[in-house]
Amino acid sequence: MNKFESLTSLLNVIQHLAKPVLIAGAGITGVSCAIALRDAGVPFRIVNKGYRIGGRMASRPVRDSGTPFDGRVFDTGASYFTVSDPDFAAVVSELEIAGVVQPWTDTFHFADPEGIAGVKMGPMRYRAELGIRSVVEYLARDLVIEEGEVTELPTHERLALCMPTPQAARVFPQASELSTAVWEPVISVSLLFDQVYWAAFDGIFVNQDAHVTWIANDGARRGDHAPALVVHMSPVLSAGHLVDPEDVTPIAVAAVKRIMSFDADPVWTHAHRWTFAKPLEGTTVSEPNFVLGEVSRAGDEFSDRPRVEAGWRSGRDLGRALVDLA
Ligand SMILES: Cc1cc2nc3c(=O)[nH]c(=O)nc-3n(C[C@H](O)[C@H](O)[C@H](O)COP(=O)(O)OP(=O)(O)OC[C@H]3O[C@@H](n4cnc5c(N)ncnc54)[C@H](O)[C@@H]3O)c2cc1C
Repeated sequence: MNKFESLTSLLNVIQHLAKPVLIAGAGITGVSCAIALRDAGVPFRIVNKGYRIGGRMASRPVRDSGTPFDGRVFDTGASYFTVSDPDFAAVVSELEIAGVVQPWTDTFHFADPEGIAGVKMGPMRYRAELGIRSVVEYLARDLVIEEGEVTELPTHERLALCMPTPQAARVFPQASELSTAVWEPVISVSLLFDQVYWAAFDGIFVNQDAHVTWIANDGARRGDHAPALVVHMSPVLSAGHLVDPEDVTPIAVAAVKRIMSFDADPVWTHAHRWTFAKPLEGTTVSEPNFVLGEVSRAGDEFSDRPRVEAGWRSGRDLGRALVDLA
């Protein structure tokens, strides 16, 4: 090998070692992956489809309601999050100190199709006063996030796909071979009333109802006690209305009136379609992350409890695995 060849080969090695990472997706998973890379000094870019980051941790403002609530946000995706992992607990404690999240409640009601049937205690659920999207925005505050859709494999970067598998497979079809997760849709209907028509509650799990699975008191969740509810429609009903999500709004209104025993119509409504809302528990994959050559995957489906915390952990673990490769 002459001097030129050895220099070229050395440069190749250095280039390989320092190969930057392209993270696609700035939900909680992509952002925690980015933080792990940033903290280790590994070069990366993070690109998100859509101008708002946060993905399924989504908060949407009220617009043109003709009420003083214009601008107030509803949480339209994830309702809350729980904490079990000590490392995630440390992040949540930082978020709490910064005033981004607050412990919300350990008690929800449960109902059947006829009405409220009781209360049930569980783990502490956390809420975010400014909307759950603010959690991801706060974690990403020092990151530069590019707006755009990754549509093909990059040539000079490793690709980390941080979104549900059906979306990842549009970029890298083999992604579907890595996950057995079955995704359920949810249409989430936000309802604003002219006053509060219900007794104090935080959330209601609705069992055995053909239409509704969950009703959140968004006023309690936000802390402003606005007359605001968010209703999650059942996967079967949602699947039948993915092209016309607004059509389920009257069904949502009828269900809350029936279950919560009041008779008033909302003054403003909005229906949001989540085609890939949640991986069905029992179909998820327990491996924390996948690195296959130049393409890797992370997300909430790589956990037996697919939730916000699982996304955070999967992204962090993938970031660490990519640091080890660098
Ligand atoms: C209705 C609903 C209720 C839920 N309730 C709860 C709950 O109560 N508690 C809980 O813990 N979890 C809940 N979840 C689940 C929780 O929201 C997710 O676990 C978590 O947000 C997963 O984050 P993620 O970053 O993995 O994926 P996502 O949040 O889906 O983020 C993926 C991001 O990638 C972007 N993207 C997609 N394709 C591309 C591309 N090609 N190029 C660039 N960017 C791309 C998307 O725009 C998005 O921003 C709920 C979810 C929904 C929808």
